[in-house]
Amino acid sequence: MAYKKFDVKRMAEALQKGAVMMAVHCEACGAPLFRYKTGRIECVNCGRLYRYASGSGSVEELSKLEYNREEALSLLREVEKHLFKVEDELKMKNIVEALKKIREELAGTG
Ligand SMILES: [Zn+2]
Repeated sequence: MAYKKFDVKRMAEALQKGAVMMAVHCEACGAPLFRYKTGRIECVNCGRLYRYASGSGSVEELSKLEYNREEALSLLREVEKHLFKVEDELKMKNIVEALKKIREELAGTG
């Protein structure tokens, strides 16, 4: 069995969640990588995260910090799109306050 040293249970769980097994393997443990619908590329065997390397079809490892930064940037772009659809004045005011809090946390200014 080619995958007997890998966590087959977690791989099956990834498939059940809709992830796709890739033809690319983890550099650290050799297990096949899984790509989720969200774009997340993960080695479910050892927990390492990957992303597509720019300009090629290969992947490169991503630290948890880098992964979360990319997710934050993608959320920001999504938020920006939604802002143009808000028609309610109070809702918009609440969004501004929430965004100010995030800015405060990042920049330390009010
Ligand atoms: Zn791995």
